[in-house]
Amino acid sequence: MLIDTHCHLDAPEFNADRDAQVQASIAQGVAAIVVPAVCANNFQTVIALSDQYPQCWYALGWHPMYIDAAQPSDMHTLRQLIAQHVGTSNKLVAVGEIGLDFFVTKQNAETQSYFFTEQLKMARDFDLPVILHVRRAVDDVLKHLRRHSVRGGIAHAFNGSLQQAEMFVEMGFKLGFGGAMTYTRALKIRALAKAVGMDAIVLETDAPDIPPEWLGTQGRNSPKELMKIAEILAELRGMHVTQIIENTSKNSIDIFPKLAYLCTPLEVLH
Ligand SMILES: [Zn+2]
Repeated sequence: MLIDTHCHLDAPEFNADRDAQVQASIAQGVAAIVVPAVCANNFQTVIALSDQYPQCWYALGWHPMYIDAAQPSDMHTLRQLIAQHVGTSNKLVAVGEIGLDFFVTKQNAETQSYFFTEQLKMARDFDLPVILHVRRAVDDVLKHLRRHSVRGGIAHAFNGSLQQAEMFVEMGFKLGFGGAMTYTRALKIRALAKAVGMDAIVLETDAPDIPPEWLGTQGRNSPKELMKIAEILAELRGMHVTQIIENTSKNSIDIFPKLAYLCTPLEVLH
């Protein structure tokens, strides 16, 4: 049983064949797909996807790359939406995708920081994990997490140092590895995927983005690629892929306890 801990299944790239991609993923052994929101425009879409597909779960939050469109009042709206769904939906698993991105621009660093902080407070208040987007901002994100501690989460598409990885792990986080690790020339990420503890790793596609090497840089990523991504990690770590699948699923459930239901034998559910 594979778990894609980060997939933008709501993206327009999937409008033509979303259903076929979900079915193909299930055929490849993907039992759960976590779909993070990026801004208010897609909150209802990710919720609807989780209603439509038993395999889909969702997170609600404002992505740092969309933050220029956010108003402080949007934090109130988000808080109300989470409050409304956290008690009634077993499919809301996290606050996300949130974080800091200083790769595109650092000019709005203060704005990013404000909204990131507000959303960390929500995660703390609702006792939800967070799905973090961290680009060129690892130390800043760590600083925020020290100030506003949350119950943990996932540092998605992790690309920091081993020392920074260990700091995230100490704070209850897992590190997301996906398409970037599949490139033979991605020496740094590959070394990291080998060096961190097996209990720190979760798998993700970030589809339709970060296409694995075999799709080409212009290719559209899909959750159905997750099995091949797991095989790459198995190769890198010299482990059997079934062990990789078992460990990463367990790690994902550690972060998203609601997904434990996937492991419950059917007899128990009846
Ligand atoms: Zn994402």
